[in-house]
Amino acid sequence: MTETVNLDSSSPLGFKDLGLAPELLKALTDSGYTTPTPIQAQAIPVALAGADLMAGAQTGTGKTAAFALPLLQKLLPHANNGASPAKHPVRALILTPTRELAIQVEESVKAYAKHTPLRSLVVYGGVDIRTQTPHLKTGVEVLVATPGRLLDHIEQKTVQLNQVQILVLDEADRMLDMGFMPDLKRILALLPKQRQNLMFSATFSNEIKRLADDFLTKPQLIEVARSNATNDNVTQKVYQVAQSDKEALLIQLLKAAEAKQVIIFTKTKITASRLSRSLEREGIAADAIHGDKTQQERIKALDAFKAGTCSALVATDVAARGLDITELPMVINYEIPSAPEDYVHRIGRTGRAGASGIAISFVSPEEDKYMVEIEKLIKRQIPKEVVAIEKTSARSHSSSRPATSKPSHAKTATSNQDATATKRTPVKKKSNDPWFDKPYEAVVSQQTASVRAISTSKTPVAALLGGLRPNK
Ligand code: AMP
Repeated sequence: MTETVNLDSSSPLGFKDLGLAPELLKALTDSGYTTPTPIQAQAIPVALAGADLMAGAQTGTGKTAAFALPLLQKLLPHANNGASPAKHPVRALILTPTRELAIQVEESVKAYAKHTPLRSLVVYGGVDIRTQTPHLKTGVEVLVATPGRLLDHIEQKTVQLNQVQILVLDEADRMLDMGFMPDLKRILALLPKQRQNLMFSATFSNEIKRLADDFLTKPQLIEVARSNATNDNVTQKVYQVAQSDKEALLIQLLKAAEAKQVIIFTKTKITASRLSRSLEREGIAADAIHGDKTQQERIKALDAFKAGTCSALVATDVAARGLDITELPMVINYEIPSAPEDYVHRIGRTGRAGASGIAISFVSPEEDKYMVEIEKLIKRQIPKEVVAIEKTSARSHSSSRPATSKPSHAKTATSNQDATATKRTPVKKKSNDPWFDKPYEAVVSQQTASVRAISTSKTPVAALLGGLRPNK
């Protein structure tokens, strides 16, 4: 059973009011954070009090600090500068579904722990396990891991989990989607029974409820308005365009918008690679991240994107999961995901931490059915425009690149899905809990009011570009 915490998140709390230690407050000041986000204001006191937690929060809400800060504070009594590894057993374990998220979470933990002697480490698959072992052997209090690689270390006896007192399951819904349940069960069976559990999930399906029932003890339920950042700050648009014209449209938009950072989502890794090459040929600095890239390649692409030397990152859903790029102004859905939840995750990459953003979806007639499902899930209509391609100013891809206009494109998608996603048995998710399943319900704003009837006349791309700039 769960209890709902009724904290008034509208009162302007400071981090000091949450009872955080001076070392952590100093790190927060260094990070430039002054006010806790709603999930932080609610989760931190509960976690500090020692309760188990089930929190509904997606990436972009500040959830990482919501678990990392109390976790570090609870470990402070054990913090020491001893050289012996025995002085630094793993006391907090944070499990994440993807390598990218694991890396980002550990970076945050390190930043918040910088004024303490607490050590942290991240371990994930896709890289030589032997490179991680020496670091593990020196001893770390906070271990961030993807489940598969952690099990590898457990099997090789390079990690001991018998002193874990806090467990965090980050993006628990995604872990279940990716088929990690058996791995989770194996890991959790090795942890001390007496421990605190903090679970974060963007959606709350029956599977998540079962996971909570199995692994949490009298969890407190933290409810934040999931939709706040996304709804208020992200302008969503649909451009209706033939599949064969998508590439030309994308190139025109990117060139005209001069957007410094755009993430472009495709359904398959083959499309991601091909598209990034096409963009490069057009003089747009682009790269692709997907499950076929090595970890080094993915990190390199991400670093270049963050540094601004690469302006267009083409990504599959799994590869992009959990990416945290500050003030990402634009997301383009080059192909529409068949799982509506993926749309929510994709557009959650923009409009973060109060910044405004634009999410544009290129919808071909074959993809209309996916948009219907998406609009049902987010409980709002997205403005639709029919787009005319200025074929004189951009490459005509229907003629010059027949490969892009293959009508069988959608068919090839399934077999080319991101390897990371398909490697484990996917669990079909059906979100039917009213609490988590109304992410966008609360905000029926001007945007909904301004939904136009689908225009019958074609809008020239140049006119559409005016709409690319976020309304500040
Ligand atoms: P997360 O949901 O943990 O991925 O965090 C989303 C973004 O918000 C990250 O870029 C964080 O660095 C940033 N962030 C987290 N907490 C705060 C805060 N209290 N104030 C401002 N930004 C924050």
